[in-house]
Amino acid sequence: MAKIYTDQDASLDPIKDKKIAVLGYGNQGRAWALNLRDSGLNVIVGLEREGNSWKQAVQDGFQPVHTEDAVKQADIIIFLIPDMVQRYVYREKVQPNMKEGADLVFAHGFNIHYKLIDPPSTSDVYMVAPKGPGATVRDFYTKGGGVPALVAVQQNPSGKALEKALAIAKGIGATRAGVIETTFKEETETDLFGEQTTLVGGVMELMRSAFRTLVELGYQPEVAYFETINEMKMIVDIIYEKGFTGMLKAVSDTAKYGGLTVGKFVINEEVRKRMLEAAEKIRSGKFAEEWIEEYNRGSPTIKEGLEEIENSLEEQTRRRLKEIIERGKPKS
Ligand code: NDP
Ligand code: MG
Ligand code: MG
Repeated sequence: MAKIYTDQDASLDPIKDKKIAVLGYGNQGRAWALNLRDSGLNVIVGLEREGNSWKQAVQDGFQPVHTEDAVKQADIIIFLIPDMVQRYVYREKVQPNMKEGADLVFAHGFNIHYKLIDPPSTSDVYMVAPKGPGATVRDFYTKGGGVPALVAVQQNPSGKALEKALAIAKGIGATRAGVIETTFKEETETDLFGEQTTLVGGVMELMRSAFRTLVELGYQPEVAYFETINEMKMIVDIIYEKGFTGMLKAVSDTAKYGGLTVGKFVINEEVRKRMLEAAEKIRSGKFAEEWIEEYNRGSPTIKEGLEEIENSLEEQTRRRLKEIIERGKPKS
């Protein structure tokens, strides 16, 4: 059984007198910097350039500095810049400027697990990985809640790495929900698998395939959109609140029977074989290799993919239905 920590198991003490450098002020960076500051911790925002993030950080009351200047002062250095950028920033700005024994903290295990960053043996290396988008990490915190997270320790010369990881988790609000202890390997591989086969890739392609099937059969795209894409939120909300059992109780008996039988017919052994293949590609490091190469070529596949989706019939249909969707949203 997984080890779970909550607010009572975590104290801010191990980090309350430390200077915490948050590198990056995007999805996670902004949420962490604000939450840690609101938790009474000493945060400095470090950025590479005086661009959009810089402006946003100033607007939020921070005085951002360049990465190397943040790193020089920091006892704890948190990497909240894109995974593909971290190793360059580490090599050029962090490693040459960090205090001996400063902590290196990650929100995802990619760079450590795939050995793209090789930290000094004198540093504690640990992870706090929120299981939700940055905007939600901030939103839940301001409303008294927290997004659950995973914590892991890779290097622990001080013997205090786990306490500090839990302190950071508490500072961003995650222990209000609960934090599970894991390893860099487990977090990295499961995070990649989840986003590829379910959260980002799987769900989107499932919805798109269903939409396209209906449209090809001659049904109106607007009707198909409501049926196979828009209603997903309502179903997922019920799963989030009440689990699959609660969801199955909320739908008609006809939907229950159809869902329980046809779901397994569509998502069959063949699909699971492909999921295993996806897992194998992650575990062998092949996916990481492929993604690094894609990134180094300027991410052409991402660009093409985004363009294809933006121009797709699904998105065109959504644009037509946007007013209906907006008008229907709850008003409070
Ligand atoms: P973002 O893509 O939001 O990071 C953007 C920030 O990084 C901005 O401050 C941006 O500055 C800076 N940045 C972008 N490119 C560069 C560059 N080439 N050099 C230096 N700085 C750059 O990152 P995320 O918050 O999405 O991810 C950060 C970490 O958190 C990753 O390890 C990720 O895996 C992990 N994570 C992310 C989650 C998410 O929901 N997004 C969930 C859980 C973990 P500027 O504005 O100047 O470009
Ligand atoms: Mg994730
Ligand atoms: Mg991820």
